[in-house]
Amino acid sequence: MAFTVPADVENRPVAVIGSGTLGRRIALMFATRGGEVRIYDKSKEAGEAARAYVAENVAEVASGIEGGSPGRARVTDDMAEALAGAWLVVEAVPERLDLKKSIYGELDRLADPDTILASNSSSYPTSQFIDEVKHPERVLNMHFYMPPKQNAIDIMSDGHTDRAIIDLLERELPRYGVYPFEARKESTGFIFNRIWAAIKRESLAVVAEGVSTPQDVDRMWQINMGTPAGPFRMMDHVGLDVVLDIENHYAVERPDLPAGPRELLKKYVDAGNLGVKTGQGFYDDYA
Ligand code: NAD
Repeated sequence: MAFTVPADVENRPVAVIGSGTLGRRIALMFATRGGEVRIYDKSKEAGEAARAYVAENVAEVASGIEGGSPGRARVTDDMAEALAGAWLVVEAVPERLDLKKSIYGELDRLADPDTILASNSSSYPTSQFIDEVKHPERVLNMHFYMPPKQNAIDIMSDGHTDRAIIDLLERELPRYGVYPFEARKESTGFIFNRIWAAIKRESLAVVAEGVSTPQDVDRMWQINMGTPAGPFRMMDHVGLDVVLDIENHYAVERPDLPAGPRELLKKYVDAGNLGVKTGQGFYDDYA
């Protein structure tokens, strides 16, 4: 059946596939208009933890959204049940291309014909995982940062996405307290991630060249930008192994990028100092 955009969004649930760090936060945002969010995760524990996370936070987050009211999350271990009637599916399973490809085939087979299929992938354009999808016009990237605190999101076509989906999301998503910005052509890292990558890279270069220290860069950043943390503290929170993976990914596409920032990160990673998760990174006050 041909795809047409869903007309009755107001009365239909959103389904979230994969409810780890990001999936549960995405579920939380879609529970802020009084309706139901469905959660499907292959781990029962992760699904249950996500449901509890939504229940604990939804009243407060919904109260900060105009017209918001607390909804609820329902967990199921049956993907078809999670998808039934949903107007939107947001996939947030681990960043593995083979997994994304097979999940998209499954979502396309099981979802209602007018369901929009969106991926939270950080580094893969959805054009790379639609091999098994019969209706690529309903697939796109929808990349969240760290809701409910960081609520700007990137959206990007898979090259076939129906224009009406992008228009619909631009209208609907702000009602859930999230604000989409369209990458107008395919771009690894979308919009904001690329800009943030450049800030991280130059901060690392300044330290790798011996010009400054992580602590001084962060203090300058905090004083001049008025933010509570600087780039090095923020990298420690994400995990220096993850930051290195991301930078390596950019370097494959852009071999002209300087190696100094990656070499500095690698020293920390090789020493097992990954940031907050190991108790030590650029800072050592996480114990
Ligand atoms: P995570 O490992 O915390 O969570 C992934 C969840 O998916 C787990 O709960 C796991 O049990 C579940 N899962 C694994 N295989 C599954 C399957 N076949 N079906 C259903 N569930 C399955 O990962 P995350 O950090 O939340 O990242 C998920 C996605 O979000 C990735 O594509 C990542 O690039 C993207 N992302 C992550 C961040 C971040 O800061 N962590 C930010 C933006 C985007």
